[in-house]
This record gives sequence, structure tokens and C-alpha cells, in this order.
Amino acid sequence: MKSLMQTLIDTGNLGTVQEGVKKAVTMFPGGDAEALVLQVNNELNQYRVVANHRAKGRSGLCSLRGKTIELHGKLFEEGREGPRDSTLLHEVAHAITYVLAPYAKGHGREWKFIMQCLGRKPSRTTNTEDYDYSFLAEDRKKSAKLIYACQKCEAELAAQRKKKHPIEAYTHTGCGGKLYLKENRVTRQTFPNPSAALAA
Ligand SMILES: [Zn+2]
Ligand SMILES: [Zn+2]
Repeated sequence: MKSLMQTLIDTGNLGTVQEGVKKAVTMFPGGDAEALVLQVNNELNQYRVVANHRAKGRSGLCSLRGKTIELHGKLFEEGREGPRDSTLLHEVAHAITYVLAPYAKGHGREWKFIMQCLGRKPSRTTNTEDYDYSFLAEDRKKSAKLIYACQKCEAELAAQRKKKHPIEAYTHTGCGGKLYLKENRVTRQTFPNPSAALAA
């Protein structure tokens, strides 16, 4: 556990955030820019950064009450600097938004503006091609209650709850094959591929 400021120094992001805050306060033309910068910095000074090793399919979280930024434990591994910084700045943008625009929606236009001030694309999710977030898909698979699979190519899809319609109604977007329920981890049952059974 480290202070946010120390984390920003260690990851080489302090300059980006300091410059970003100066730009962000221009959201209020005519306001006392210096006072706002001070206010934001005072707030950021109170934050700590923690690694969450039990995160389930989420790369980061910003807690206003707890003054904590949580980052997925895997983001601290070597070679993950890209998604680490991307997630860190996404969460810092939330912390800044809380000070400058407490009325704003989570990923509303104020947050988006602040993301741009930090030199980042205001993308809401980690579902981006810029960085490799495949470790999140592994998490989701580990915590999934149901595993569906494609009858044609055996690609697996993890799910938390049962599909709305009978499984025959769904196809695998990758190859067009029909899906089947392969594993129910709640009842500890596994099921064979029905088309493989037909062919046998
Ligand atoms: Zn967010
Ligand atoms: Zn398939």
C-alpha cells in the first residue's frame, strides 16, 4: 500500500497528473484556478493505492469515501505498464472529478474532459484494443458459474447466470456454431458436446 503521490512518482505519471489538473480547472472559466488546483492536490494527497489480488474481472476502482484507488494485482506485474497506467489515470480522473464536479455522473462529460486533460482517450471500459486486458477474461472465467461452449469450435464462454433463452437460440459470434452448456460449476455437472455425440 502506497500513497497515490508516491505511486504517481514511481510510475512516472506525476507530471502528467499535475499538468492535467491545471488544464482541468479551466472547466470553470473565471474561477480561482490556483485555489482549485490546490483543492484537487489536497484531495489527491489523501489517496492511497492498493493492489487487489481478489479482483474479479475489474482492472481498477476509485473509492471516494475510502480515499483509495484499487488496481488489479496483475497490473503490477512486469510488462503490464501500459494497462497499469491507463487504469491508474482512469481512476485518478474519477478522484479529480469528485472534487471539481461532485454532481457529475461517473463517466459523464466532466470525467471525459478530465481524461482528455490527462492525455487519455475517455474510454469507459477496459475493452480497448490499445492494451492487453486478457487477464480480466481469465478472472471472469475463474469466477464463472456456468461455462458455455461452441458446438463447432469448442470456444468457451464464461457466464455468471443462465442465458435468458434456451441455449439452442445462441450462436458463437466467432464461427456461427451453436452453443451448448458445457459445465455448471454450482451443481458440479459437466455435459458433452451434443454434436460430437451425434457424430460418434
Ligand atoms: Zn471508471
Ligand atoms: Zn465457434
